[in-house]
Amino acid sequence: MSSSTVITNIAALVTNDPSLGDHSPLGLVRDAAVVIEGDRVVWTGESSKAPATDNRVDADGRAVLPGFVDSHSHLLFAGDRTEEFNARMSGRPYSAGGIRTTVAATRAASDAELEAGLTRYLAEALRQGTTTFETKSGYGLTTADESRALRVAARHTDEVTFLGAHIVAPELADDPAAYVDLVTGEMLDACAPHARWIDVFCEKGAFDGDQARAILTAGKARGLHPRIHANQLSYGPGVRLAVELDAASADHCTHLTDADVDALANSRTVATLLPGAEFSTRAQWPDARRLIDAGATVALSTDCNPGSSFTSSVPFCIALAVRDMGMTPDEAVWSATAGGAAALRREDVGRLVPGAYADLTLLDAPSHVHLAYRPGVPLVAGVWRRGVRKV
Ligand SMILES: [Zn+2]
Repeated sequence: MSSSTVITNIAALVTNDPSLGDHSPLGLVRDAAVVIEGDRVVWTGESSKAPATDNRVDADGRAVLPGFVDSHSHLLFAGDRTEEFNARMSGRPYSAGGIRTTVAATRAASDAELEAGLTRYLAEALRQGTTTFETKSGYGLTTADESRALRVAARHTDEVTFLGAHIVAPELADDPAAYVDLVTGEMLDACAPHARWIDVFCEKGAFDGDQARAILTAGKARGLHPRIHANQLSYGPGVRLAVELDAASADHCTHLTDADVDALANSRTVATLLPGAEFSTRAQWPDARRLIDAGATVALSTDCNPGSSFTSSVPFCIALAVRDMGMTPDEAVWSATAGGAAALRREDVGRLVPGAYADLTLLDAPSHVHLAYRPGVPLVAGVWRRGVRKV
């Protein structure tokens, strides 16, 4: 038998089980306890009713919530784009090649360098409360470079996404049809065994709706499940394609028509909002309020990448979503936990209910609301992942 531990004297416990506590979507329980056995939660409820356990941790009147589920990141990269960001934020022109800069540096990096970068950003995210993360390829754009990025990623997470269709590889810039053939042929064959998901950047200058449909359909035929970078920089077909293909998630969703919003609201495709990108490019915020009011499921994620959103901090994204995207603190916390789990079609993370993984974050604050109320403050006081205390 594995030993059991109770975390007790929790002032406010977010369970994301509406049958518990205040019966809100957060299932908020006051004066609560959580019991962990092995890697799972076995009990949640009021402290006074907690069963006997081998070990006891006193939360000392602070808040506990599920570990964040960061469902969108790009952590397999090398190189540095500080100057590009500095120029953009200083109003200076900058002519380097954006994603292409990172592609060149990533191709030149060793496997060990790529893995060292990944583990560094994962450790950074864990310290800020993230216990589940998805990450993508997309800076290799050759069969060999994409498949090695996925092999490295798969050593650290089950949520690995093949994004060969990030941009057309520079050497095939004049022949995008040939690149789509490569992505749906030899590259897909090499990458499918190492990934769960397939993704496309559906946008002007990247891949149009027909190309995106061909790539995602080919991926589905190989057992990968689709997700799409959709409607980030302009209106377009991405969101409706995501719904048509039953993608788990349409990511960005900044430029939406009423038909796009209706399509999301009447599907199980999650709208994943990535405010770090709008922050880092001074772009228009996505309208979370409009999506939630229409009935869509919304996730919040970092989009951590070296070009357009170099943050691994889910708390930062929660604060932006509350300040600038019309979300309440409760909605933002739900979207960064249960919402992220929905965007990965997971039921075993993002909730603190019996049977779920014991992935949880203890805040140095009496309430989850402090994640937005005290922006930029390192509030994470403890992190358990799979029942093991990591922070
Ligand atoms: Zn992205």
